[in-house]
Amino acid sequence: MKAQQFVVIGLGRFGASLALELMEKGFEVLGIDHNEERVEEMTDKLTHAVMADATDESVMRSLGVRNLDCGIVAIGDNMERSILTAILLKELGVKMVVAKAISILHGRALEKLGVDRVIFPERDMGIRVAHQLVTPHLLDYIELSKDYKIVELTVPSCMDGKSLAEINTRAKYGCSIIALNREGGIIVAPTAHDYLYAGDIMVVIGSNESIDQFEEEAV
Ligand code: ATP
Ligand code: ATP
Ligand code: CA
Repeated sequence: MKAQQFVVIGLGRFGASLALELMEKGFEVLGIDHNEERVEEMTDKLTHAVMADATDESVMRSLGVRNLDCGIVAIGDNMERSILTAILLKELGVKMVVAKAISILHGRALEKLGVDRVIFPERDMGIRVAHQLVTPHLLDYIELSKDYKIVELTVPSCMDGKSLAEINTRAKYGCSIIALNREGGIIVAPTAHDYLYAGDIMVVIGSNESIDQFEEEAV
């Protein structure tokens, strides 16, 4: 089930950017912050922006928070408030609760409370940027499990004009190109007869080892 209505609690840098992106994607977003200025700044940018203390149960009830599909606790620096808010969202019956953690212990506490997804924005972004810095053509990646991933790479000039059969990625490295994204459009599930052009984006799936080897030797 795809969430349609979100409540974002805490409109700091993280919460505000998350809320705006959800709006951009066409979802309804209720933003809550107890800081007046932060709320004012978001008033005409979100479906609703309300000044309230998210740990106040009666206020949260009156805002109808329990009817929303997903709640994001974007309070970071104050662990107590973050935890109280997460408990409240869970108790009110919000189906999916996501919370930002500032430390491993904070994250563990949130998980124990039944928070559905705990995120560590600073840590995760640090890891992501490190990967991108040391892998020249890497745009983005998703870890599928401990051993498998999907990566998005720009096609290097050494592959320009070559077919997938010539590059022979699957046979040689054991990883598959699952999509090619170029200005003219996306080719999903390209075959041996599709061509690569420098600057295209290729999406590759495989084991970490096979993809690392492909990146080192071919890209
Ligand atoms: P960020 O790291 O996202 O930039 P920040 O460091 O400015 O945020 P945090 O302490 O992480 O601030 O809190 C994020 C937001 O959550 C702040 O705007 C703060 O006013 C709000 N906030 C904190 N506690 C509550 C609460 N109990 N109810 C509502 N809003 C709260
Ligand atoms: P496979 O069983 O690996 O698909 P195949 O013998 O059926 O190989 P083709 O489909 O004609 O042969 O492809 C020839 C070669 O081109 C493959 O062995 C593979 O290395 C490469 N190739 C084709 N499509 C892809 C793809 N989407 N991603 C990576 N490599 C591909
Ligand atoms: Ca902060």
